[in-house]
Amino acid sequence: MEPKYKRILLKLSGEALAGDKKTGLDYDVMTSFGESIKKCVDAGVEVGVVVGGGNFWRGRSSGAMDRTRADHIGMLATAMNALAVADALENCGLEVRVQTAISMPQVAEPYIRNKAMRHFEKGRVVIFGCGTGNPFFSTDTAAALRAAEIEADIFFKATMVDGVYDKDPHKYSDAVKYDTLSFNDILSKNLAVMDSTAAAMCKDNNIPILVFDLGRPDNIYDACMGMNIGTVVK
Ligand code: UDP
Repeated sequence: MEPKYKRILLKLSGEALAGDKKTGLDYDVMTSFGESIKKCVDAGVEVGVVVGGGNFWRGRSSGAMDRTRADHIGMLATAMNALAVADALENCGLEVRVQTAISMPQVAEPYIRNKAMRHFEKGRVVIFGCGTGNPFFSTDTAAALRAAEIEADIFFKATMVDGVYDKDPHKYSDAVKYDTLSFNDILSKNLAVMDSTAAAMCKDNNIPILVFDLGRPDNIYDACMGMNIGTVVK
């Protein structure tokens, strides 16, 4: 079977990397993502990954701390996650490079778009750390930005719910799941899928978003193959 997409940008939230522990890192969970990503790469899909940092730190929940400084800490948290995910993916037999938006040449390559493209050509997974490199942004926005830069066919927003609902399915048993949505729906109905900056970035650059559940890690592969899962925003 041919994959539906040639190049994807996968966003892994910090929460997803923590598994049931909710904070820190769960190596088994990261390995399960790696196994699914390996199947995608073996099928010929080029995979870029943006990692979140919420399992360690979120700038906006840092209390009295200066927001810019808190966001710097948040971006460093994503760098830790990028290194950990790289390790788990390598253990699955993948070739991986980490590129960070804040330079730390002793531990990772700096983010250079053309270099990332060259890595994709060679079948390497590129993990993008440190978000956009700027405070006041989120890793969802970083994922939208990197998706545009690497000309990804789609932005996979892998989360802890199996799609977008009209209200929180963890709180309301009558919540209804959408199969498809428009960007205007996301922006006007205030659906808590992602922040408006990230949604607007995808809308302006015509990048579809597939929201799906990482509770089943192999959804990453199924999504690449075009199986009917999650909610598509286009
Ligand atoms: N962050 C930032 N700029 C960016 C991306 C992230 O300042 O471009 C900081 C911000 O403090 C954020 C933290 O890094 O709260 C972790 O990222 P995020 O909350 O998006 O992680 P996730 O919720 O996906 O785990």
